[in-house]
Amino acid sequence: MKILVPVKRVIDYNVKVRVKADGSGVETANVKMSMNPFDEIAVEEAVRLKEAGTATEIVAVSIGPAQAQDTIRTALAMGADRGILVQADGPVEPLAVAKILKAIVEAEKPDLVFLGKQAIDDDANQTGQMLAALLGWPQGTFAAKLELADGSATVTREVDGGLQTVKLRLPAIVTTELGLNQPRYASLPSIMKAKKKPLETKNAADLGVDVTPRLEIIETREPSRRTAGVRVGSVGELVDKLKSEAGVL
Ligand code: AMP
Repeated sequence: MKILVPVKRVIDYNVKVRVKADGSGVETANVKMSMNPFDEIAVEEAVRLKEAGTATEIVAVSIGPAQAQDTIRTALAMGADRGILVQADGPVEPLAVAKILKAIVEAEKPDLVFLGKQAIDDDANQTGQMLAALLGWPQGTFAAKLELADGSATVTREVDGGLQTVKLRLPAIVTTELGLNQPRYASLPSIMKAKKKPLETKNAADLGVDVTPRLEIIETREPSRRTAGVRVGSVGELVDKLKSEAGVL
């Protein structure tokens, strides 16, 4: 079984994101970038399937600038076998990413494409669903548990208010939820070994995909600041403040 894992390079989740002065987007210059956390979960799950003898090959693919090679190398250090970088310097929206991934899927013929449920930069939560639609493949999104057997995947999905289990015929698309696993840290020897693993570079035009943005960002704004709270001395004072100051009673 071959697994394709798309991994996106995003601002590291520990970084406090700053909006650019002109509101055109967020500051990315000199900011630490890392693999999207949901994609780390996808790589981890794929590697576990390989360790269990279920998967035979894991291919990590990233669409982004030349530096997205580092994101692919991280996936290779975690245990992926080879990488594909589809180089694109500007923003690539989910539909264009899905079209690029469709072209890669047609060439690589994986049994499973394992994506993150969303990229934490734009919070789109669209790419996996769009790819499933473009390929006409079944999809199991927000996977909190995955079992593979007899040419099918049983996916337990985290949905509002509970869990839903679906059975998909392979090939299929699965997107990862936080609870699926705890991704490993790559060891120094595996980081060194990853430097020698194959990494191929392509570009979107070679794959026949036009990545021109369809959306225009009109404004990016910081969330409004919360005002400081006050400590009240008694329940009576709280009720009084809720009536006279907050006006909610
Ligand atoms: P999104 O729909 O943008 O929230 O992204 C959902 C998932 O699609 C991510 O977790 C990745 O697995 C994949 N993905 C999105 N954009 C890219 C990209 N530029 N390169 C590789 N994978 C991507």
